[in-house]
Amino acid sequence: MAAVEKALSDSDFAQLLRLDAPLADAKQIMLCHPADYVERIRMSIPAAGIYQLDADTYVSPGSLKAALRGVGGACHGVDLVMDGTVQNAFVAMRPPGHHAERATPMGFCMFGTVAIAARHAMEQHGLSRVAVVDFDVHHGNGTQDLLWDEKRAFFVSSHQMPLWPGTGRADERGAHGNVMNVPLPPGTEGTTFRRIYEDTVLPQLDRFAPELILVSAGFDAHKDDPLAELDLTEDDFAWVTGALCDIAARHAKGRVVSVLEGGYDLEALGRSIAAHVRVLMEKGA
Ligand SMILES: [Zn+2]
Repeated sequence: MAAVEKALSDSDFAQLLRLDAPLADAKQIMLCHPADYVERIRMSIPAAGIYQLDADTYVSPGSLKAALRGVGGACHGVDLVMDGTVQNAFVAMRPPGHHAERATPMGFCMFGTVAIAARHAMEQHGLSRVAVVDFDVHHGNGTQDLLWDEKRAFFVSSHQMPLWPGTGRADERGAHGNVMNVPLPPGTEGTTFRRIYEDTVLPQLDRFAPELILVSAGFDAHKDDPLAELDLTEDDFAWVTGALCDIAARHAKGRVVSVLEGGYDLEALGRSIAAHVRVLMEKGA
């Protein structure tokens, strides 16, 4: 979060409207997770020190509140773009959310933030076509699990394969053909990434004609990231952000809510977020 704050402290972002994220309420979390799961997470939060939920997922006394603010921020972002207060929003949050399945915390994630925001848009705002685009280098297995049988959502994930968590093959299509997986081999560079989006992802999104685009904005596909082997740069993240905003302009009155997922080289993360938010500001002006 310090790296994110630093990146957004540049004078380029002086005009940015900055709001504190509210805590999500239980009703919002339960749009995607059963009550006993929420209780299990709540009970696992230690009074002091660290507790390990799985091989990668550790919680400390502040973790529940942080995760609830992530979900609350994403839902509030949806509210603000739906009521026209802003055209788009970026939710700078930790922990990420796209690996959390219905009743399983995974990969630093406790709650499926972006999937909850999608359901919130459907239930609170009556939307029937919500696109979720995940360009984090890891497959958004949690979002896929939570939206697998959701006809009102179209979920697209591009990710390195092979790579943890191992899911996200192109033949995983969702219960209604509402999931699109785009596995990319290690070493994929920006030119190939852009061509694949232009040839396959963007036309499918155009056909779906979303009323809102949610973005799982992970920046760990950056060439400097230590957790994976894709070779994107901040220019590629700016490009894909612009392309998604253009689709939103055509179908969704420009409505885009982007939530932070991964990104583990802090310099690259800062530059990538700056590039991403700069495009959101230009397109939302
Ligand atoms: Zn990731």
